[in-house]
Amino acid sequence: MPTYSHSQLSTYENCPQQYKLAYIDRIKIETEGIEAFMGTRVHEALEKLYRDLKVTKLNTLDELLTYYHQSWEKNWSETVQIIRKEYSAEDYRRLGERCLRDYYNRYFPFDQGKTLALEENIYFPLEEGYWIRGVIDRLTLSDHSVLEIHDYKTANRLPTRAEVDSDRQLAFYQMGVEGRWKDIREIRLIWHYLTFDLEIQSSRTPEELQRLRAETMELIRRIEADREFLPREGPLCDWCDFQGYCPKRKHLIFVENLPPNEYLREEGVTLVNRYVELKEKKRMMNEEMDAELAKIEEALFAYAQREGVDSIYGSDHVAKIKIEVKEKYPLKGDPNRKLLDELIKKAGKWMEVSDLNPWMLARVMERGSWPSSLVNRIKEFCSLEQSRSITIQKLKEID
Ligand code: SF4
Repeated sequence: MPTYSHSQLSTYENCPQQYKLAYIDRIKIETEGIEAFMGTRVHEALEKLYRDLKVTKLNTLDELLTYYHQSWEKNWSETVQIIRKEYSAEDYRRLGERCLRDYYNRYFPFDQGKTLALEENIYFPLEEGYWIRGVIDRLTLSDHSVLEIHDYKTANRLPTRAEVDSDRQLAFYQMGVEGRWKDIREIRLIWHYLTFDLEIQSSRTPEELQRLRAETMELIRRIEADREFLPREGPLCDWCDFQGYCPKRKHLIFVENLPPNEYLREEGVTLVNRYVELKEKKRMMNEEMDAELAKIEEALFAYAQREGVDSIYGSDHVAKIKIEVKEKYPLKGDPNRKLLDELIKKAGKWMEVSDLNPWMLARVMERGSWPSSLVNRIKEFCSLEQSRSITIQKLKEID
């Protein structure tokens, strides 16, 4: 039975290649980011808090934090990775502790509702034989008929209102628990953004859930039709567990782990370094050549003007020099262009230059068929532009 989870679908949306490595190739990863490690320890502590409460044991804050720190130490290993090098493991550990402390103080004595389930697995049919699975952090009954779906987040980013109201994860959970208990008149979705000491609530109408079903099926169809699973590089790559397998990052991860002497000898590193060096050399040489060519061109124009020649002969080639001065009329967008248009229209000559094509106007002016008074006024709009060119011909090519 094809089954998907919210995090599986999110992985595809974030990067199809990451999805392939995780869910199709099923590559097992030994390492874990410290953010996930800290999040798991905080979740465990809150699970313990509510599990103990179910049997009337209310942990003190100290007991809860002791449990958190013991779990941290018991599970800590070298496989936990810190991506943001400016922070230490202790910084993250303190952040987790602060999350728990704030939560404890905010909700003590935890009598806001009756806990129905903790770390509850859900599994429900979506459409067309597809199923969704997930795990709900906590399910609570409040006011005898309100079902609350609680989710703990230790992320350092607070979602916007729009993101909360369109969140797929808790909406899935709602679909998963609907109909489980009798006389439920309302289902509330509640996120605890622990690093912000903030609770956010939302809800879903039956129409919104139906729309989500359709959108999710569309996404699943896209995933199942994908044959390439192209990598999508982005800011989250640094946290991707599959960098060592991804074509975008594999080489980086490989060379990062080489000792310095081997790093500089590695074939890929050597090739890229040499390639960049040569490209840079070429760019600098081109710049030098261009500067020298410009100087010689100027010297050729000066020579041609000084000596009154337009062909200058070298040993095997001749340089044909052309220096022209052309009249230039304002183009569209030039503030003078409108005035010139009006002048020509008033003179009844508009049809001859139609839409004032400056090139056509220049030809008409050259012909000299317009009255000199009009020509003189038009000339006020005219500027002179010099155009110069050098054409090199092989001597034997000249007829
Ligand atoms: S490293 Fe980036 S591009 Fe590669 S699989 Fe991971 S998320 Fe995708």
